[in-house]
Order: sequence, then C-alpha cells, then structure tokens
Amino acid sequence: MNSVPNNDKPCVLLIEPMPSWTIDRARDEFDLIVLPHENQRPADFVENANRIRGIAMPGFAKVDAALMELMPNLEIAACFGVGFDGVDTSYAMANNIAVTNTPDVLTDCVADLGMALILAVLRKVVVGDRYVRSGRWVAEGFMELNDSPRGRRLGIVGLGRIGLELAKRAEAFGMTISYYNRSERGDLSYPYFPNAHALAEACDVLALTCPGGEATMKLVDGDVLAALGAKGYLINIARGSVVDEAALVKALSENTIAGAGLDVFADEPNAPEALFPFDHVVLQPHQASATVETRTAMGDLTIKNLTAHFAGQPLPNQVA
Ligand code: NAP
Repeated sequence: MNSVPNNDKPCVLLIEPMPSWTIDRARDEFDLIVLPHENQRPADFVENANRIRGIAMPGFAKVDAALMELMPNLEIAACFGVGFDGVDTSYAMANNIAVTNTPDVLTDCVADLGMALILAVLRKVVVGDRYVRSGRWVAEGFMELNDSPRGRRLGIVGLGRIGLELAKRAEAFGMTISYYNRSERGDLSYPYFPNAHALAEACDVLALTCPGGEATMKLVDGDVLAALGAKGYLINIARGSVVDEAALVKALSENTIAGAGLDVFADEPNAPEALFPFDHVVLQPHQASATVETRTAMGDLTIKNLTAHFAGQPLPNQVA
C-alpha cells in the first residue's frame, strides 16, 4: 500500500523489484510511492510527481529522460545495484540530478555465481541433475565425460571488483587468468590483452564482468565468438547488452563454441527460447547478487545514499 502524502519526509519514488524489507525500511525514512515497473504510471505517481525528490530503483531499470522529466523536482536517482546503465546519466548531470550505486557489497556473491556457472557448464552439473531425475542413469549408465577447469585459461572482460574476485576463485580451481579492460592495470601481473577479440583467441573460458551501456554494446559479437572457438565457453554475469545475442544463439546452435553460462540477457526476462533445449547452456534469471544477505546490504546502501543526500551530507557512492 502506498503512503498518504507526508510532508515531513522527502518524497521518494521506489521502482520494484526490491526486497519487501527494504521497501519497509524506505517507508520509515521517506514518503514513499512504489512503482511496480518503470513503464507504469499509476494515479498516485502522476498526482505526486512534482513532489518526488528521489528515486530508488534497480540499476537496470530504464530511468530515461522521459521518465525523469515527469518529476521536475528530482534531485537524486539511487540505484540498487552497481550497474547504473538503465539511467540516462547525461540527462541527470545536465539537470543536477545525482546518481548513486551500491558497489562492493555485492562483489562476492556475483563472483560466486560466475564461478558457479563456470563449474556448472564445464562439469555439466545441470545436465547431470536432469540425467539422474529422468532415469537415464539407470537406463543408459554413466553419462559422457565433461571438462575440468584445471589448466584451462580464463579470460576476463572487465577486471574490476567482480572480475578480480572471479579471478581469485578461478585460480583456486587451477585456472590461469588474463584480461581485457580499456586500460591495463598497473597493480596486477595478469597478462593484458588490448581488445576482447585478442583475449578470446587466447583463452578457453571468456567471462564478462564489465559494465553494460553504449560503450560495451555487443562487444562480444560473432567475430569474438569465432575467436573463442569450438572448445571455448562464454560466461556472462555482466549485462545482456554486452553480447550480440543473435550471434551467440547461432554459435551455440552450430556448436562453434562449446557452451555458455548466462545470468543476463538482452531483453529480460525474455531469454532466447532457442537456447532452452541445449545441454551445453546453463541459464539463470539475473540472480548473481540475489542472496538475502547481499540484497539486504544493497537495500541498506541505497537508503544510505538517499538519506545522506537529504541530510546534505557527502554521498557515499556517487557515480554521476
Ligand atoms: P568495476 O569495479 O567498475 O569494474 C568494471 C571493469 O570493467 C573495470 O575493470 C573497467 O576497466 C572495465 N570496463 C569498463 N568499461 C569498459 C569498456 N568499455 N570496455 C572494456 N572494459 C571496460 O565494476 P564491478 O563492481 O566489478 O561491476 C561490473 C559490472 O558487473 C557492473 O557494471 C554490472 O553491469 C555487472 N553486474 C552484474 C550483476 C548480475 O546480477 N549479473 C550484479 C552486479 C554487477 P577500465 O575502466 O580500465 O576499462
């Protein structure tokens, strides 16, 4: 249930999905209007739009100029997530709207899911589960052998906070690491490649942990997938926009890459149905940060950024 106007508290628009306990906490702090989806325009939003001073929303929610224009007194857009590719930061900056995110608190969980996908795809964990449940083990005996991560080369596109934690986990499983960023890191000795194509040629598993948005749009295209090759695996825990999804479906259909583990898609929640029958693909519903612990910490940090703003204090995590 949305709040009745309370002029003692700053009016904040909260775009779902967000944990119910984060919404409850936000309701304590703010005069809250809850929007089930950024495309919806319910009456309480329309009637109160000029009172809204802040937005709390998932980082992938499309908070574009058209939406922000409806709120002439908007001061801050606080993303629940480290990615903020859904926000039109150019419009925000031009209109003195601060943008914040929730880095660090989700790094471990996202890297955990990246490693889980590497293991699930190479070791055929999901295929094995289906094999037992469907009775094929009894009927056909042991299933075909699978691939070890040990000795395989992991190439990371976006060796930042999450990428580095993924690298540490992969090293524990005997993988070697190399990476591509826009700039080489001086603090690490992992081999650096100047573009995604060169990295793909030099690795067995290509993992994406870079931001989404225009700068990385379809960075992994048909050519990069061809460079990865028929024995290469793709892991995407970044954003669906980073991959040319049609090229990926083609590569997986034609077995020109060995398999993929995907947490994110170009048009969520619509993962390409062409992938559903494939045993060499593991699909996840964009859930890399979705543990109770991490989502709680993300919610707390989102609220902390908003309360700091309304108290006139420095913002803990300003990105624009
Ligand atoms: P981060 O610490 O800022 O790391 C991002 C890395 O990507 C940096 O090493 C950066 O290096 C590189 N990078 C940035 N722009 C690039 C470009 N145009 N081309 C190539 N590399 C580029 O961020 P993080 O905390 O690790 O988060 C990374 C991303 O993970 C987020 O932006 C988000 O999209 C994604 N994520 C996904 C989930 C999920 O649920 N699946 C959850 C959380 C985060 P340079 O600046 O040198 O290029």
